[in-house]
Amino acid sequence: MNRNLDANHIVKLLKHGTNQPGEVIPLHEPSLTGKEWQYVKDCLDKGWVSSVGEYVNLFEKKLAQYTGARHAIAVVNGTAALHLGLKIVGVEYGDEVLLPALTFVATANAVHYCGAVPHFIDSDMDTLGIDPKKLDDYLKEITVQKNGCSYNKKTMRPIKALIAVHTFGHPADLDSIHTVCNKYHLDLIEDAAEALGSYYKQKHTGNWGKLSVLSFNGNKIITTGGGGAILTNDTGVAEIAKHVSTTAKIRHRWEFIHDQIGYNYRLPNINAALGCAQIEQIDQFINKKRSLAEKYRQLFKNVTGITFFREPAYARSNYWLNTLILDEKYTASRDSLLEATHEQGILTRPVWTLMNKLDMFQNCPHMDLSIAESLEQRMINIPSSSKLGGEDG
Ligand SMILES: *Cc1c(COP(=O)(O)O)cnc(C)c1O
Repeated sequence: MNRNLDANHIVKLLKHGTNQPGEVIPLHEPSLTGKEWQYVKDCLDKGWVSSVGEYVNLFEKKLAQYTGARHAIAVVNGTAALHLGLKIVGVEYGDEVLLPALTFVATANAVHYCGAVPHFIDSDMDTLGIDPKKLDDYLKEITVQKNGCSYNKKTMRPIKALIAVHTFGHPADLDSIHTVCNKYHLDLIEDAAEALGSYYKQKHTGNWGKLSVLSFNGNKIITTGGGGAILTNDTGVAEIAKHVSTTAKIRHRWEFIHDQIGYNYRLPNINAALGCAQIEQIDQFINKKRSLAEKYRQLFKNVTGITFFREPAYARSNYWLNTLILDEKYTASRDSLLEATHEQGILTRPVWTLMNKLDMFQNCPHMDLSIAESLEQRMINIPSSSKLGGEDG
């Protein structure tokens, strides 16, 4: 049975919620209203624009302070951070890495960059993250343990790591996921690209994994133009991350000795200058985003067939992207809603196509993905820029 939602009514609610009459309303745009000009000008005036400089060190310090992680290592983007992170935990050619089918393509691409095979797992309806119970049952069935490592019984490849994604800024169930990772000897990496400013049980996301990853792309909660970071509480991991992201060069006044394959992944100082200005405003951004989310929640409270997705009970989310979920019987209304909103300049968006449906990953192993498949058909992201939110938070 398929029923249609009243698209005009939904458009009206979104117009009311965003309150920008006559304008095109992007899904997410950066807010550059702090000291961005001042700090970037300072870089230009002093000539420190590249991979060495005060701002990149300061930005790392501020990221560590804000997230409570012991170390932050700034890199060129979130994808590079994932690639480097997987290398650091020891993912190698022919390994498998578990990750949700419901994620942005960068998570799966980074696994492929290591010569490893992405293995897709299902999501949880209440968190939009990995379902730890379903994962545990699945791993019980498909893995065999040997010398403290899990092997995929079918492919006999080692399953080395798991990447937990905090979808749209909503923290996955980290305690339970951590427990499953320990049980099956998997290194946990948190893809917290969307989750700066999101807390799991009072503690900032990014502190459960061996390391975790942030992104400062133009559409993320704060931006450096392009940028990313690795967070870790392990000093050894932090040292390797810094070393390998700067071409693995041994410190010397003139010799060029590199002790392993390294990467040119260091975030340039001029980008970090933007980041320093942005992170000074993050509390304000998140207050506004949370107040926008609350406004949407009220507006959609009594709308039949649509649920505004709320943070899990254990979480305090940044509400990076606000999300509507259609009831199953209204699935067929999704495209007409996308069309009606775009026609009115409200740039809504469906969720990503599941990774296992993309050509390059279609032959990768995956578990039953019924929840992710259902969510894929029914989710719509709605405009979420912080400037749309009120000051009160
Ligand atoms: C944005 C994003 C990334 C990649 O970050 P970039 O900085 O764009 O490379 C990775 N994972 C998720 C979940 C993201 O949203």
